[in-house]
Order: sequence, then structure tokens, then C-alpha cells
Amino acid sequence: MRRVSVFGATGSIGVATIELLQSQGGAEAFGIVALTGGRNTDLLARQARALRAEVAVTAHEECLEDLRAALAGSGIEAAAGPAALAEAADRPADWTMSAIVGAAGLVPGFRALAHGTTLALANKESLVTAGPLLLAEAAKHGARILPVDSEHSGIFQALVGEDMAAVERIVITASGGAFRDWPMERLAQATVAEASTHPNWAMGQRITIDSASMFNKALEVIETREFFGIDPDRIEVLVHPESLVHALVGFADGALMAHLGPPDMRHAIGYALNWPARAQLPVARLDLAQIGRLSFSAPDPERYPALRLAREVMAAGGLAGAAFNAAKEAALDAFIAGRVGFTEMAAVVEDTLERLAGEGGLGIPLADLDNVVEMDRLARIRAGEVIAARSGR
Ligand code: NAD
Ligand code: MG
Repeated sequence: MRRVSVFGATGSIGVATIELLQSQGGAEAFGIVALTGGRNTDLLARQARALRAEVAVTAHEECLEDLRAALAGSGIEAAAGPAALAEAADRPADWTMSAIVGAAGLVPGFRALAHGTTLALANKESLVTAGPLLLAEAAKHGARILPVDSEHSGIFQALVGEDMAAVERIVITASGGAFRDWPMERLAQATVAEASTHPNWAMGQRITIDSASMFNKALEVIETREFFGIDPDRIEVLVHPESLVHALVGFADGALMAHLGPPDMRHAIGYALNWPARAQLPVARLDLAQIGRLSFSAPDPERYPALRLAREVMAAGGLAGAAFNAAKEAALDAFIAGRVGFTEMAAVVEDTLERLAGEGGLGIPLADLDNVVEMDRLARIRAGEVIAARSGR
């Protein structure tokens, strides 16, 4: 029986993962080791009971009593906090879903690689902040990382049987987010509620806002570079409002292999769950005759400054990815809290990176996870200073 853990089980990706595990046999077919969540302890306990998990972990110590109460009589262990998340990742599993949002997902995913099995990686922040460390850890233990981001799953699928040496370019698509048709001058006034609705995908709030600002795509460009080991200048972003073509791989002979599918994460999750086989999945089938046409355009650099910042981060290398992600998370928190405007997020990230570069800390090579965690902490402090200076004005 395959032993499975799901980190971030109560989120958008996590719930879809649990649904697929259930549709493929649930507790009869999988030995569920750990399920983790945040404040939604009722949902976490229901998932753990339904799948007969060994342990359920909430990220928050103050939620432990609620989780214990919700699990009473089930025999399922309850635990809380970052150390408990890391301990849960140390329990051997054959397949681990990394679907915590943000830098908090790094340590559990990293620790799970030590089992030398499969890590299904939705947490793109892991690759952005610590890509080389993650890949080295996977190689050291003979573990496999399978991408769960839809674009990266699409690239991965387009590369089956291909030689990376023949790859000329990789194109990832972007819907353009909630504001792609808004006049530029209105963007500064965009509210949190407006930024939290995606035209095509139903996702967690943070990634939805990151889609509107294209910080999500910026992270994904870096994720592409790290995961596929391709030069940044061979990675392109294409605006594609329909979100049906997820990625394209261009080869030396001029062929362009596209991955198409409905905007439904159950495809990428199910692909990673059943790889290298393909299973019947409960996703819609595209009727291209009915869809009729697909449209594409180049992203407007003025509308989406995050894409330029991603290029600068890749050029800097080292700890710049960790700094970028942390500054982005801090700017997003500040936007959600009403402290900075929508278009100010990019300015906050840029100013933070400039300060850190001035202090000489950005290009430092990645030595270990502690470096990354320390840069994450420092970048949040610097971003906090930048935000305070701006919102004090
Ligand atoms: P979400 O906000 O819906 O869920 C996040 C999960 O992480 C929840 O289980 C939450 O309890 C947990 N969590 C939040 N903060 C935590 C912390 N500090 N410590 C431990 N656990 C914490 O997020 P999501 O949309 O499911 O995204 C999860 C990850 O997958 C992100 O990295 C995102 O970029 C990536 N991703 C998501 C989608 C999507 O369609 N939702 C697509 C591609 C990639
Ligand atoms: Mg994506």
C-alpha cells in the first residue's frame, strides 16, 4: 500500500488532492500518514477521519486543543506548530504532496525528500527560495520531484521522452489575472476583494492576488529555471486569457509542443499521483470546436513589473530568490491588510531588494537551508521597514 502525506491538506490544492485520493480508493488503497492544515481544524479532522490518517497537524499551537477535540475517540494523533510539521515530514511516505502556501512549505517538503520517494510539489516557493538545495537533496536521496503547478506539469509532460539539449525555449502562459483589461490608471485603486477573484481558476486567495499582479507568474518563471535547469533568456511568458494552453516547449527543429487542458488543478495533481501512468481523472474534456479560438499576446511590462523583477532575481542568483519571495509575501500581507495599494506591492518588493543588495546580502551562494530561512527573515524585516515608510506618508 502506498504511504501518502499531504501538507496543506485543507487548502485549495490540498482539498483537491484529498478528493482524488478518495476517488482512487481512499483509506483502502492508501496508507495515509500525515495530513496538515492551519486554522480550519474541523475540516482537517474530517479529512483525517475519512482517510484514517496516523497524524493530523495544525500549523498553529493555539489550534491544538480544537484539533484534539475534533479528533477525540478516533485514535488519530494531533500535533501543532512548525516543529510538528517537520516531524510529520520525517515519517516515511512514498508520495508526499507539498501544498502549504508560502515559504512555510519549504522545510516539510525538504525533509520529505530524505525518504528517497516522490515529492509532488505545488509549493513553488520552495524552488524559488531554495531550488538548488532542493534538487541536490533529492539527488542525494534518489527522490523524485514531480511538478504540480499546471504550467510546470504541462512542460514536464511535453518533455516526456525528449532530450533537454534539444529544448530551445519554454513558454508559460498567464491569464493576465483579474485586471488584465483594466485601464492602467485604475490599478492603483484595485481593492483586495477585486484582486481576489480570478477569471478562470478557483485558487487560494494569496495565489489569486499574485495572479492579478503577475507575481505568481514571476515566481513561476524562476520555478521553471530551477526545475528544468534552463537559461532565463530561454523562458518566455505569454498572456493567454482562456487559460487552456498551460505551457509550450519549443525544440531545436522548430516544433512547439503545447499542453492543453481545462483550468482544473485536479489534472496536474492527478498526473503527479499516478505518474508515470495516466489514470481516468474527473476533469472536463475540452471541446475545441466549441471553444473556436484561442488568443495570445505579449505581457505589458508596465502593467506587470513583477516579471522584470523575476529576471533581476535570476540574474542575481544565490539568496535573491528567498529575498524576492519573502518581500513579495510581506507586500501581499500589507496589501491584504490595507496598508499598501495594489500597484505598490511591486514597488515594495523592488525597494526591499535594493536595500538588501546595498547591504551586500543578495548574491551570496546558497549553502544550506539555514541561509534561506535567515534571508527570508531579514527580507521580511526590510520589507516591513519599506512598507512602514510608505504607509506613514
Ligand atoms: P491555500 O491558501 O488554499 O491553502 C494553503 C494551505 O497551507 C492550507 O492547508 C493552510 O492551512 C496551509 N498553511 C497556510 N499557512 C501555513 C503556515 N504558515 N504553515 C503551515 N501551513 C500553512 O493555498 P493553495 O491555493 O492551495 O496553494 C498552495 C500552494 O500551491 C501554493 O504554494 C501555491 O502557489 C501552489 N499552487 C496553487 C494552485 C492553485 O490552483 N490553488 C496552483 C498552482 C500552485
Ligand atoms: Mg501555475
